[in-house]
Amino acid sequence: MSTHQAIPAASPHVMNTYGRLPVAMSHGRGCRLWDVNGKEYLDALAGIAVNTLGHAHPKLVPALQEQIAKMMHCCNYYHVPDQERLAEMLVERSGMTNVFFCSTGLEANEAALKLARKFGHNKGIERPEIVVYEKAFHGRSIATLSATGNPKIQAGFGPLVEGFIRVPLNDLDSLKKATAGNPNVVAVFFEAIQGEGGVNPMTDEYMQGVRAMCDANDWLMMIDEVQCGMGRTGKWFAHQWAGIVPDVMPLAKGLGSGVPIGAVVAGPKAANIFTPGAHGTTFGGNPLSMRAGVETIRIMEEDGLMENAAKVGKHLQTRLLTSLLEVAGVKQVRGHGLMIGIELDRPCGAIAQRALDAGLLLSVTADNVIRLVPPLIMTSAEADEVAAILLPIIKDFLAE
Ligand SMILES: *Cc1c(COP(=O)(O)O)cnc(C)c1O
Repeated sequence: MSTHQAIPAASPHVMNTYGRLPVAMSHGRGCRLWDVNGKEYLDALAGIAVNTLGHAHPKLVPALQEQIAKMMHCCNYYHVPDQERLAEMLVERSGMTNVFFCSTGLEANEAALKLARKFGHNKGIERPEIVVYEKAFHGRSIATLSATGNPKIQAGFGPLVEGFIRVPLNDLDSLKKATAGNPNVVAVFFEAIQGEGGVNPMTDEYMQGVRAMCDANDWLMMIDEVQCGMGRTGKWFAHQWAGIVPDVMPLAKGLGSGVPIGAVVAGPKAANIFTPGAHGTTFGGNPLSMRAGVETIRIMEEDGLMENAAKVGKHLQTRLLTSLLEVAGVKQVRGHGLMIGIELDRPCGAIAQRALDAGLLLSVTADNVIRLVPPLIMTSAEADEVAAILLPIIKDFLAE
């Protein structure tokens, strides 16, 4: 049972937008966090797939300290060398050509939606429409929540932005039917692995099919890699397992290892749609977040963290699968690399609190999916520890 210790400075003046667990974190190191009362936690959440390098990484901290002492922000009226460096790093690793920098995931997706609309207007389409997906999550601005496929996130914020066509996942026939004879379609927009929607992967075959349809119809293929990208699945971007290259790819979460950052990477079809004055953002591409992005990629490669994500992810998923295969109430264990979902046959939000009590951080998404998105530095021994804490919690919960 939860101890519900007092949380210093829990103020009623913070808006009540999250159902927060009764704990306040103090500091971290690697895959461990400590709360203000000194209790230790193993981190299988990484601040929702953000802390790629875990906490207080010994190579990242001095680099960022140095950067803060030099300059944090100067705005985009000037060239920022690390912005150009990070753009080149992302272009090289994605096979795409140009990057726009911003600060969050929704901002990256908002830019992608603007790119798609402008792409249409440039072709003389006055009312462009974008294909989006059931259970998708793209953010909480008015446009991105309209693209999101979750009525709970949209409730109370209407009128929604128009110009979206919604289809189910992994069903090419539905996509064909929904777009047949519609000259206003400009783009298809999806997560390679849905995160908030319950860790739902798009199949390689489906992504290849969408790529072919986008080519045949001159649509933009836009893949939201905000959560599943940046090495989490064992490749830089989750869609790369399907051997395809999108035209537009929003990134954020793990790109800065904890420093707020977003990016939209574009291929040749979308690279020159924005012209000076068409889009912008004050914080985008600032020297601090750019340094965080450059160092994150550099350290990931130096330390083989993508290979680690693939290896440890497979190890953890196998361990969970073998232990849960026969357990009544477990519907599926799925995911790729260090993005794993355990779907139960009933709502299981309570598991987040029970794991917290047992010293493990994770989240429950889509009501009944336990989501594990740990730092990419997690070792096999730490993954074993995650399983050792989590498995009895799941079994006890389902036995009640
Ligand atoms: C988290 C997330 C977003 C939104 O990112 P924010 O930084 O919270 O705005 C968008 N798309 C996906 C796939 C996400 O997981």
